[in-house]
Amino acid sequence: MKILRTKNAVKSFCLNLQLNKITIGFVPTMGALHQGHLDLIKKAKDNTGSVIVSIFVNPTQFNNIEDFEQYPKSLHNDLELLENIGVAAVFIPENQEIYPDKPILKIDFGLLEQRLEGAFRPGHFNGVGIVVSKLLNIVKPDKAFFGEKDLQQVAVIKRLVMDLSFDVEIVVVPTVRDKDGLALSSRNLRLNPVERNKALTLFRMLSYAKSELFNGGAWLDILFHVKHEFSQISDVRLEYFELVHAEDMSKQDSFNKDIPLSICVAAYVGKVRLIDNIPVNH
Ligand code: AMP
Repeated sequence: MKILRTKNAVKSFCLNLQLNKITIGFVPTMGALHQGHLDLIKKAKDNTGSVIVSIFVNPTQFNNIEDFEQYPKSLHNDLELLENIGVAAVFIPENQEIYPDKPILKIDFGLLEQRLEGAFRPGHFNGVGIVVSKLLNIVKPDKAFFGEKDLQQVAVIKRLVMDLSFDVEIVVVPTVRDKDGLALSSRNLRLNPVERNKALTLFRMLSYAKSELFNGGAWLDILFHVKHEFSQISDVRLEYFELVHAEDMSKQDSFNKDIPLSICVAAYVGKVRLIDNIPVNH
C-alpha cells in the first residue's frame, strides 16, 4: 500500500493506473475508520481495479470548532485496517496541501441544503462541495463511493457531479450498523457507555416511525410521539426528525409509495452530534 502525501504523488500514481487501463475506485474519508468505511472500500474493490482511500479531516465542512478539534483520530489503526483490506494507496494530505489558500469560492446547493444538515450546519455543504471537488480533481477516479448514512451529502454530491460535469460515477453504499442498530460513526468513539445506550434512541425511533408509516399511521402523530420519546431522555437533544424525498430532500408529510422516502434524524447525545436515516420504501 502506497502512502501518498502530496497532490503530485497522487496524480502520478493515478496516471500510471490510467495508462495501464486500470479503473480507479475512490473512497474519501475523515479517518477513525470503522466497518462502515470498510464496506465502502469492499464495494470499491469489487467494482474497480484499484482503490484509493483519502484520510483528511476537512476543516471547511465543520461549522463547530469543538467538533473539529474533538474529531477522533486513529491514523496508526486506520493504516493497519487499510493494509489488511488491501487498498492500492492512501492519500493523507496536510491541510496546506489541500488549502494553500482559503477558498473564496462558495457553493450554494439551493433547495437541497436548505433543510436538515444544511439548515443546522450553515456552510457545511459548501465545505463538502469544495473538498470533494478538489479530491475528485486530484484523483480523477472512475467511481467514487459514499455512504447512505449521510443521505443529504449523497444528494449534494450527485448534484455537484452533474452540475460541474465531473467524469465520475457515484456509488452509494447502505448504512452499516452495530448489532443493536446504532449506525457506525467515527463520532461514536466520543460516547461513554451511558451515552452510547441513549444513542440507540435514534435508530429505535427511525424503526418505530417506519413501521407506523407502513401501518397507515399519520406522520404528524408519529412525529408527536417521537418528539415526546426524545424529550424523556436526559442529555439527548433532538435537532430534527423528518420524512423526506430521498433524492431531492424535500419535506414530506405522508406516506406515498410512488416517491422514494427516507426518514432522517439528527440529535445531540451529550456533546456528540449524531445523524442517521432509514429508507422507507426504496
Ligand atoms: P466520514 O469519514 O465520516 O467522512 O465518512 C466517509 C464515508 O463513509 C462517507 O461516504 C460516509 O457516508 C461513509 N460512512 C460513514 N459511516 C457509515 C456507515 N455506518 N455505513 C456506511 N457508510 C458510512
